[in-house]
Amino acid sequence: MSQVSWDVLVVGGGVIGWSVAHHLARFGAGRILVVDRGGGSTERATGGFRAQFATEVNVRLSLLSREKLLRFAEETGVDPGFRANGYLFLAGTEAQSRQLAAALEVQRACGCDEARLVEIDEVRRLAPSIRVDGVVSGAFSPRDGFIRPMEIHRGYMESALRAGVERLQGEATGLERDGAGIRVETSVGRQQAAVVVNAAGAWAGRLGALAGVEVPVRPLRRQVAVTVPTEALPPSTPMVIFGDGFHFRGVDDHVLLLWPTEGGTDPFDVSVEPEWVERLLEAVRQRVPALAGVPLASTYAGLYEMSPDEHALLGPAPGLESLFLVNGSSGHGVMHAPALGQLAAEMLTGRPPSLDVRALRPSRFAEGAPNPLRRLL
Ligand SMILES: Cc1cc2nc3c(=O)[nH]c(=O)nc-3n(C[C@H](O)[C@H](O)[C@H](O)COP(=O)(O)OP(=O)(O)OC[C@H]3O[C@@H](n4cnc5c(N)ncnc54)[C@H](O)[C@@H]3O)c2cc1C
Repeated sequence: MSQVSWDVLVVGGGVIGWSVAHHLARFGAGRILVVDRGGGSTERATGGFRAQFATEVNVRLSLLSREKLLRFAEETGVDPGFRANGYLFLAGTEAQSRQLAAALEVQRACGCDEARLVEIDEVRRLAPSIRVDGVVSGAFSPRDGFIRPMEIHRGYMESALRAGVERLQGEATGLERDGAGIRVETSVGRQQAAVVVNAAGAWAGRLGALAGVEVPVRPLRRQVAVTVPTEALPPSTPMVIFGDGFHFRGVDDHVLLLWPTEGGTDPFDVSVEPEWVERLLEAVRQRVPALAGVPLASTYAGLYEMSPDEHALLGPAPGLESLFLVNGSSGHGVMHAPALGQLAAEMLTGRPPSLDVRALRPSRFAEGAPNPLRRLL
């Protein structure tokens, strides 16, 4: 196959890769190719959206994304399914209550005062299906809620293709410096690009290694259980997240149940552990009596793309300017894809980014200046 030249070649056709391609095309960035082998995390995401974060840059990414989601149908022709059902975080200790309160201060400093601390009575009112034993307090935002990951993916992909972006189904197997650009070997032929965007999700570290660049992103398995269709939860139920990470939400006619665990020995393994299912069902019996008798229809697992400080990497790779990183969102990549795609395209086309994204510069790890590892719970 002959060698082709691209202004930008995006490796990774998940929601982030296509958001970058869509925004680049809108900015008239020239010839753009998206190379993807399929099987990424976007199709496994459960579709939560929140502005309740504990660091300023993550709150601001959410606010920009939300603004864009509210205009998404206008921008792409597709409904992203954004529904403000709310997010309810439940502290199980006084220390967690203080963490929630500190995160609210960070959100307020970003001009986002929609979340509030809630006492047990309000927790009961917001989520009548749960047992509140062991819950100390909560934080609730009525403007957080749910999105449809694959509709956002479709919206960006279809819009980019209409604007002339091309796609190649295959695997990038080699990246090599070639003058000021990069030569990309793929399973279906060689390509040549001025800039390569690493939007390879949980595989971003492996892709970086092909170019001899360390991209500190590791996969982390997340297991999910899906109930049979049920009316056991009131439709107004928000996303409910307990202090140890157990959480659930309704979607269409069923309920998704999650409980984070550390990964197994093979970090890319996406099998579901039977013991995990047992522990999850026990937690459901104890904490969500309304769901106790509802059988599971299926289980599955997917991969988060974890960076060391659990913040995205956005910008040129240290030591290789022509490799641009948009990865490491650490489990928030769908909700932040609208903002990250726009910001990446702005930076790649020499425009001033709409947000101050210095906190996301990939060089922060080598500089010994990562973001504080601050979680809500
Ligand atoms: C169970 C679960 C629940 C989640 N829930 C949420 C949620 O509620 N909200 C939220 O915002 N996020 C959630 N996430 C995280 C979210 O799925 C990711 O952050 C997001 O999908 C990342 O998008 P991406 O485009 O970077 O990666 P992906 O969707 O993984 O796309 C990357 C693509 O690159 C391809 N690729 C990799 N290497 C190569 C190569 N060498 N050559 C060609 N192609 C390559 C991959 O095969 C893949 O198709 C969840 C994730 C999981 C697993």
